[in-house]
Amino acid sequence: YSTAAALEEPIKPTVNVDHTKLFINGQFVDSASGKTFPTLDPRTGEVIAHIAEGDAEDINRAVAAARKAFDEGPWPRMTAYERSKILLRLADLIEKHNDQIATLETWDTGKPYAQAAKIEVPMVVRLLRYYAGWADKIHGMTIPADGPYHVQTLHEPIGVAGQIIPWNFPLLMFSWKIGPALACGNTIVLKTAEQTPLSALYVANLLQEAGLPEGVLNIISGFGATAGASLCSHMDVDKLAFTGSTETGKTILELAAKSNLKPVTLELGGKSPFIVYEDADIDTAVEQAHFALFFNQGQCCCAGSRTYVHEKVYDEFLEKAKARALKRVVGDPFKSGTEQGPQIDSKQFDKIMKYIRSGVDSGATLETGGEQFGKKGYYIKPTVFSNVKDDMLIAQDEIFGPVQSILKFKDLDEVVRRANSSRYGLAAGVFSQNIDTANTLARALRVGTVWINCFDTFDATIPFGGYKMSGQGREKGEYGLRNYLQVKAVVTPLKNP
Ligand code: ADP
Repeated sequence: YSTAAALEEPIKPTVNVDHTKLFINGQFVDSASGKTFPTLDPRTGEVIAHIAEGDAEDINRAVAAARKAFDEGPWPRMTAYERSKILLRLADLIEKHNDQIATLETWDTGKPYAQAAKIEVPMVVRLLRYYAGWADKIHGMTIPADGPYHVQTLHEPIGVAGQIIPWNFPLLMFSWKIGPALACGNTIVLKTAEQTPLSALYVANLLQEAGLPEGVLNIISGFGATAGASLCSHMDVDKLAFTGSTETGKTILELAAKSNLKPVTLELGGKSPFIVYEDADIDTAVEQAHFALFFNQGQCCCAGSRTYVHEKVYDEFLEKAKARALKRVVGDPFKSGTEQGPQIDSKQFDKIMKYIRSGVDSGATLETGGEQFGKKGYYIKPTVFSNVKDDMLIAQDEIFGPVQSILKFKDLDEVVRRANSSRYGLAAGVFSQNIDTANTLARALRVGTVWINCFDTFDATIPFGGYKMSGQGREKGEYGLRNYLQVKAVVTPLKNP
């Protein structure tokens, strides 16, 4: 691995944390309780800033603001073109502040700065522009019903959307949530993850300049069991969208059902198979399998965390995958050239180490890694297990860390059966030079995304979401609009058909 030198003295970020309060009705305000919580630097575990902690009363205030902005405010009644222009202005402002936002994102999450600055913030900008383009292209149908009727459908915004996002891609998840909801004319109360409140608060400060009316987008920092649960249970919230763990997804669905039956979209966990067939281009497959698992410190819901390799190429693949993991540059995420920073927090660090021990105990072969990197913060050495069997915990549970599990298979039917024998169904990678093999696998796998000879392409236009316990509904693309629209049928008799 790379030298630990950079870890000894963390590189000082070049921005200040100017926004720490809740953002309600267009204003930064203290929480009703006056409480704050610390957000921590994953490189050291030290406090970056104290953040206003939202709870039920703040959620009430934010929902009231969003309700008013929806029921009385200009937002849903503006022309779609006006909403489009505001989203485009917001995208321009985020682009202008790219480096400051990326710096906060890296500081709060530990992800490599180049990844935040050159990939993620630009993806946020692109996604907002994509949905800005949809605003004035959302329309209903006229329907040739039986009988003398004029029948049309109106596609209307649902109302107040409650949105809850995770810590692994804070601003990207923020954009996936707000982009389609705003384009359709909804208003929003969004709760960020307690680990990563900073980037969304920075963007909150740009909303007025973009021209977004007050109350349209309210941003609450705080914890899941308090602020999050209040949002889910709120009787005045018309729709929920959540990205996070499957376990929390179940709770959210329950809270929605027990309150006002608000519809819910969920983007949850995964245990995505990455299948390398005997005729794959091995070097590409090795590199993409490495990327599929280790990207973002392994903290991706769609991580390719079950690497199935055909027995004919298994030994070659394993040797190369191990060599690639050994070459992975781990270090301070602000240092240029760093590929892997620390895990998000001590809870995730401990959970990953527990899974690594479980892998060893259950008889998998630890090829490399398996321990903390350096002494400070939450860095973990890139870890590769071979001889992994389907019934091991490391092949079944979402680890959410830099731990690659390599499994061997013999033929197509077998790998389909094994890949599908998971409670999850988020994504899959398929590596083969044979179009028939690739097509057969793409059709047979019960997952929301199949990447053939590539992985993790997250274009704004492509729908993303899960089968089975990986979630319900799709985000991004045209499909992402469906989550935020009601369909109203309007029926009128015709006097002279
Ligand atoms: P993790 O365990 O990795 O933090 P979670 O799924 O628990 O993943 O967290 C994702 C988001 O869900 C965060 O914003 C978190 O605060 C929120 N959350 C956690 N528990 C609840 C809950 N009971 N109700 C609503 N939101 C919650």
